[in-house]
Order: sequence, then structure tokens, then C-alpha cells
Amino acid sequence: MAVTTSPFVRDLMADLKAKNPAEPEFHQAVQEVVESLDLVLERRPEYRSARIIERMVEPERVLMFRVPWQDDQGRVHINRGFRIEMNSAIGPYKGGLRFHASVNLGILKFLAFEQVLKNSLTTLPMGGGKGGSDFDPKGKSDNEVMRFCQSFMIELCHHIGPTTDVPAGDIGVGGREIGFLFGQYKRLRNEFTGVLTGKGLNWGGSLIRLEATGYGAVYFASEMLGTRNQTLEGKVCLVSGSGNVAQYTVEKLLQLGAKVVTLSDSNGYILDEAGVTAEKLHFVMDLKNVRRGRIKEYADKFKGVVYTPGDPKLDYNPLWTHKAQCAFPCATQNEIGVKDAANLVKNGVYVVSEGANMPTVLDGVRQFLDAKILFGPAKAANAGGVATSGLEMSQNSMRLSWTREEVDDRLHKIMKAIHRNCRETADAFGTPGNYVNGANIAGFLKVADAMMDQGLV
Ligand code: NDP
Repeated sequence: MAVTTSPFVRDLMADLKAKNPAEPEFHQAVQEVVESLDLVLERRPEYRSARIIERMVEPERVLMFRVPWQDDQGRVHINRGFRIEMNSAIGPYKGGLRFHASVNLGILKFLAFEQVLKNSLTTLPMGGGKGGSDFDPKGKSDNEVMRFCQSFMIELCHHIGPTTDVPAGDIGVGGREIGFLFGQYKRLRNEFTGVLTGKGLNWGGSLIRLEATGYGAVYFASEMLGTRNQTLEGKVCLVSGSGNVAQYTVEKLLQLGAKVVTLSDSNGYILDEAGVTAEKLHFVMDLKNVRRGRIKEYADKFKGVVYTPGDPKLDYNPLWTHKAQCAFPCATQNEIGVKDAANLVKNGVYVVSEGANMPTVLDGVRQFLDAKILFGPAKAANAGGVATSGLEMSQNSMRLSWTREEVDDRLHKIMKAIHRNCRETADAFGTPGNYVNGANIAGFLKVADAMMDQGLV
């Protein structure tokens, strides 16, 4: 698709790239958003004179710090810790922590930027942030992970707090890591507060938080299908990843009568033509969350399953070449390349709901929009996770816990509201059915108006 960008977008992107070199993911995330915002600036020139977009792409604060720790053999390791406090116009900074060897400043800035707009869409009062470390928990003992988390929190604790900045989990940061981080914060600050979300259920966590991102991505897909009077029942679905988001995407898809035929991790993927069942999903949860094994073991355990190891020489991912109606990318950024997007469309996929953050490259997004498939971009489709973190914060402040049904019902209503808002906004700006424009513009407007109200800060 030929993209026409205005001189404003071209100049803004040129400045951004000059000022933030070697941060391709950050450039990509901003490019996608500002292309949508061209439509807004025509109608609201006051945002341009107040330089709202230029302010939004500059983090309010960036923290970068040394995290030294010792392994079980007493060897010293040094990792780098980060927290990007991106925007606090509509509430305290909120966003996950990622522990993965690939983490760097540019990746966290893209995630923090996306988070600002996503949090705005949730209807809850949360600003945007993101953080993490290039520490990789894979292959580390529980004690090593604990020592790392404690060292990380010694610095982070100076910058976060229940009304300042409330981190959560992301890739490599699950219940175990949140527990260690929370314990150390409590010890250092001598206060028991809702400073992190994703907490254990008997120490301040919310029911459904674990499930929320995956469930939300499926609710969003259901809403999109509803616009064509269809449901997920009987639909064949490709899911990537096998972590938190993938697991609960599969659980909700099974509850709604869909058939899931793929799962993956960073080593390869499995194709299970018979379909993942509740029993097989239970095996995956134990494999990934308790035994911390590889998805290959799924093919060793169940008959008729084919495992394909990843091949770095390929310029496409064979996971996305199978016939299906729906795709749920739930692993990581840019996992759907240009060829993958073409393969998906060619093979009949007409619903893509992004569980992971920015899993589709920009030209892949453009192909989905050209093909007029139902494409739910991450900042809308996976907003259920942070929305339920917002519900966890509310319960912590009120010192009470809602039931599973109550939280799930609120999550479901929030996902419907996000869907409606994206759809109506896309209509209002003359691009019906374009959820990318809908999400970018609706998320932006609320933050931009708050920034206008609050003056030049
Ligand atoms: P997990 O760590 O639980 O799982 C990540 C999964 O993705 C694992 O299966 C992992 O495989 C795989 N993966 C990670 N990196 C790569 C890679 N480079 N190539 C291939 N596979 C990879 O993380 P989550 O499920 O929490 O997060 C998944 C995605 O969802 C991320 O994009 C995250 O930002 C996004 N997200 C998460 C939210 C949450 O609430 N947790 C909220 C909103 C978005 P392996 O085991 O080999 O590492």
C-alpha cells in the first residue's frame, strides 16, 4: 500500500530518528500512531501549536541503572535496569516490567509510548510507563531470580509508589518475579501498598488479572466478529507464544467453542491438527509455569502433533502458513513480518487480534487494512491486562476484593467499551472499520486534552 504522509509527519519522524538513533521499534510505534493523527491535526490545529505530539514522544523521565547480583556459584553479574515514565497526564505511570535478554532503551520506549494510548483507551485513570532489564530469567534458579529482583528493586523503589508509578509483569516477569519485587519493596519502604499489580491472591492481587490479557484479546475478537454477525464458535485459530497471554487466549477460545491448532516459544512451534484441548492446555501451563520447559515437549507427549524448530534462515514464520480463520499473535514484537501477513490473508485468516505488543510490522498492518480484514491492534485488543491491573489498584485502595465473576464482568464490559470507542472514532474520522486509526485517535484525544488543560509541563 502506498502511504502518503504529510510534511508534518515526515518532519516529526526525521527529528525523532535524529534524536533517538538506533531505536527502530520506537520509530515504528510512533510512525504508526502519527500517520493516524494526521487526520486529527487537520481538525484540531491547536494540538499542533501546543506541540502536543512532540511532547508525547519525549518521555517525562527515563531511569537507567546498574543491577549487580551474584549467581549460585558466587559469580558476579551486572545487568542494566530501566524505567521509562512516559506520560502522567491522566494518572500515575502504569505499565509492565520486561526481563528478557533483548531488552534495551528503544524497545522499552516503544512499549511505554504504546502504553500511554492503551491505558487511555481502558477508560481508567492511568498514565503510561514501562521498564525492565536485559536479565534473562530462563535457566536461572529461583534463588538467582530472587537476588536479581531484590537488587533491581533497591534502585526502583525510589521512583515508584501507589500514586506515582505502579509497575506490573510482562515477558519474563510473572507471579514469581512480582512476589520477589513486592517483598523487597515492602522491606525497603516499610509499607504494604498496591505498588505493583499482578500480586498473589492472598496478598492484594485481583482475581482474573492472570487471565485478563488473553481473555480480553478474545473478547475483542468476538466483538469484531459481532459486527459481521458471526461468533468464534467453530473457528480455527492460530496462536503464537505459550506464556501468560497465549495460555489464557487459548483457555477463552476453548470456552467459546473455537479450535486452536498452534502454539510456540522462541525455539519453534507445534501444529496440533486435532486441536488443543483443556487437558493439553493444562499440560502447557504446567510445562511453562512450573517446570519451565520447552514447547517441543508438547509434541513428545501428544500423538499426531508436529513440532517445527525455528529456522533463522527463513524470512517468514511457518506457523502463520496454516489454513485458519483467526490469528492471535501472543509472543513478541514484529513476529508477523511482511510475508507472514501475506500468508495469513492468502490462507483465509480474516480476524487478527493482537495479544502481544506490536506483533505486526508496519507493512503487515497496511496489508491487513488493505485486505479489510478484522484487525484489532494491540493497544486496543490487549488492553484487558492493564485494565484489570487498574481494577486491582481500585480494590487495593478500597481494601476489598471483588469476586471472579465481578472482575470478569467488568473486564468484558471494558473490552466492549474499547471496541465501541475504536469503531465510533474510526467512523467519525472517515475511516470506518479501521481499528488502527480508531485506537490511535481515541487513545490520543483523551491524553492530549488533559495535557492542554494542565499547561506546559
Ligand atoms: P511470557 O514471558 O509469559 O511469554 C512470552 C511468550 O512469547 C513465551 O512463549 C516466549 O517463549 C515467547 N517469546 C518471547 N520472546 C520471543 C521471541 N523473540 N521469539 C519467539 N517467541 C518469543 O510473556 P507474556 O505472555 O506476558 O507476554 C507476551 C506478549 O504480550 C508480549 O508482547 C507482552 O508485551 C504482551 N502483553 C502482556 C501483558 C500481560 O499482562 N502479561 C499485557 C499486554 C501485553 P520462550 O518461553 O521461549 O521465551
